[in-house]
Amino acid sequence: MTSKELVSHLKKLYKNGRLYNSIILSSKNQVTNLSIADEIVRYIFCSEHLQREKKCNNCERVITHKNLDIIYIGDGRTAITKNEVQTIIEKMSMTASENNGNKVYIIANIENLKVEAANSLLKFLEEPPTKTYAILLSNDRSKILQTIRSRCKLFVIQNSYESFEYNAFENLIIAKDKNSYLLAAQEFKKCQKKDLIMMVEESYSRTIIKNFPEFAEATLLLLEDLKYIVNPNLSIDKYFITIAGVV
Ligand SMILES: [Zn+2]
Repeated sequence: MTSKELVSHLKKLYKNGRLYNSIILSSKNQVTNLSIADEIVRYIFCSEHLQREKKCNNCERVITHKNLDIIYIGDGRTAITKNEVQTIIEKMSMTASENNGNKVYIIANIENLKVEAANSLLKFLEEPPTKTYAILLSNDRSKILQTIRSRCKLFVIQNSYESFEYNAFENLIIAKDKNSYLLAAQEFKKCQKKDLIMMVEESYSRTIIKNFPEFAEATLLLLEDLKYIVNPNLSIDKYFITIAGVV
């Protein structure tokens, strides 16, 4: 399934009250996973099942991370700790603060959840509180614990490098929306460097040179920094500030 097909499939399930409580989104690219998760989460909280372009108040609260019924765990590099799992369980067991009563937790790189920390999550995955959804993301589903895997519905996303679909970076550039640029910077910092490099390289040769030559120089600088600087967070910020200034 492509990410586009998957997003509309999951939205349809939710709208019909049939969305699985625990799903795993698996693709080689963490940004793809995150962008699908973000869109589904927004939709779950949207009061009117609006599409992405027409945001309501609830959508806005999700996008700007003001919705307290959503938790993100996992930085893509380090193992997920028992404490983090405990935080999920505690928060998800509380009454929802938003009107529609939904609660969602997203765990990036679920393959980084090891046996000891996983155990407390198992029962929770099996018998989730009502209106609680787990969205687990993975870059390498072969490494997911079998006990986790067997309790979730797995969706495999076709590798975006093999399809003609735009990747998350290109989608962002094409949208030409300053606010999403600045939010995206935070998101991209959570990704693994090799994913980012692959995606930016692909965007550069396929879209940026052709359609956005005004971003070309900044994009090349970003690529250099991603490749050679250990912690490129500042460069990521700088990049998005630069292109937001050009738009
Ligand atoms: Zn909405």
